[in-house]
Amino acid sequence: MVQPGSRKPPGEECTRPGPLGRTRPSVILVAPHVATLLATWTAGSPGGSPCHHSGVSDETINPTTPTRRRVSARLSAIAESATLAVDAKAKALKAAGRPVIGFGAGEPDFPTPQYIVEAAVAAAQDPVNHRYSPAKGLPALREAIAAKTLRDSGYEVSPDHVLVTNGGKQAVYQAFAAVVDPGDEVLLPSPYWTTYPEAIALAGGTPVEVFAGSDQDYLVTVEQLEAARTPRTKALLFCSPSNPTGAVYSPEQTAAIGRWAHEHGVWVVTDEIYEHLVYDDAVFTPMLRAVPELADTTIVLNGVAKTYAMTGWRVGWMVGPADVVKAAVNLQSHLTSNVANVSQRAALAAVSGDLSAVETMRAAFDERRRTMVRMLRDIDGVEVPTPRGAFYAYPNVEGVLGRTIRGRTPQTSAELAALILDEVEVAVVPGEAFGPSGYLRLSYALGMDDLVEGIGRIQELLR
Ligand code: PMP
Repeated sequence: MVQPGSRKPPGEECTRPGPLGRTRPSVILVAPHVATLLATWTAGSPGGSPCHHSGVSDETINPTTPTRRRVSARLSAIAESATLAVDAKAKALKAAGRPVIGFGAGEPDFPTPQYIVEAAVAAAQDPVNHRYSPAKGLPALREAIAAKTLRDSGYEVSPDHVLVTNGGKQAVYQAFAAVVDPGDEVLLPSPYWTTYPEAIALAGGTPVEVFAGSDQDYLVTVEQLEAARTPRTKALLFCSPSNPTGAVYSPEQTAAIGRWAHEHGVWVVTDEIYEHLVYDDAVFTPMLRAVPELADTTIVLNGVAKTYAMTGWRVGWMVGPADVVKAAVNLQSHLTSNVANVSQRAALAAVSGDLSAVETMRAAFDERRRTMVRMLRDIDGVEVPTPRGAFYAYPNVEGVLGRTIRGRTPQTSAELAALILDEVEVAVVPGEAFGPSGYLRLSYALGMDDLVEGIGRIQELLR
């Protein structure tokens, strides 16, 4: 399924003015059912639901001054992060004493390794870290990231081509800001991580979904990408291992996609943040090791969040050609300046150290992954391709939709997720947050007891 510029079937959209006055269909969370779901989940939050995001609807704009709006069109078009909303809702219910089990989290449940924390404590004591530092990142950290890239990905990069960002998320935003012009199309394999289309649209680009369902293990093919390519195609977003599906492209598939991009002058933005979390016989394939010729038109995104259980520290990076990195540094110098020095020092300890901590986490995730997949497959109507990377399972639940469960008949995965939360107090993220309805995302970054209890409740409900 290829939908240039249209990220939801007509009639299911909450169409809102997009960047630069364009009208862009908001993909995520804007189908009425999802809006309803999140309106419930976010009630009371200043943002409200995505379709009522600012609390000031377009109708409140004075008709005599149609260009005057309270919240800009560009920001009004941004939807709240569904994954964060689910996680926040689950945590809030838990804090209120409800026995909620949350599968929404996109973060390891392990503490940051002690040697990293100690480096941060020492850094906080040193006044040199109490001052501004270069927007681009501490030179020692950029050098360590270059060394780590050689160690883990097998190719050389100059520290000058590394930009340290506030989490991988800022690297995503800045990568698209650096290469996308208004009118450019960006091919976005779907299901996709919920931030990508927003970052593309904020840069003025149009995300073009290329859908790969469970029948193809959520892996897009070169043929699908080629069918979606137009003269306006500027870039391809590539994420392997994938959030939300856990899919991992093989070395051959990665190389084929990279060669296709190179042949057609399509930039590649490759998100490699889950590089160390692969299972079974899956291997992580760095795009630039597979296709080194792409170096001049590729931006690599990465960070410490997933590998070292450091989501709260906010350190990521982008690696790219000199001109693109320079442009992104200029942007960052006005936007956020340097990442907090204490966090950068912690990240320096992380990337300079060995990979034993992530191996311990990976072994635990692997065991939970097997348990989760086995239990989900026991549910009639649920189909689960084996996730081989990251820490998510992405079951296809189309076989459950339309069935009457405790007096309700969910027709969409958003309705099913709401039912599961209401009836058995288990929070999962509906597929609508990542592309089409019909899927759920469950993170297995939670303790085994909770995992078994939570999936057990879903089994009971859907049995
Ligand atoms: N890329 C992907 C695919 C992710 O899943 C995430 C986190 N959910 C990020 C980037 C960003 O991570 P952070 O900003 O925490 O470094």
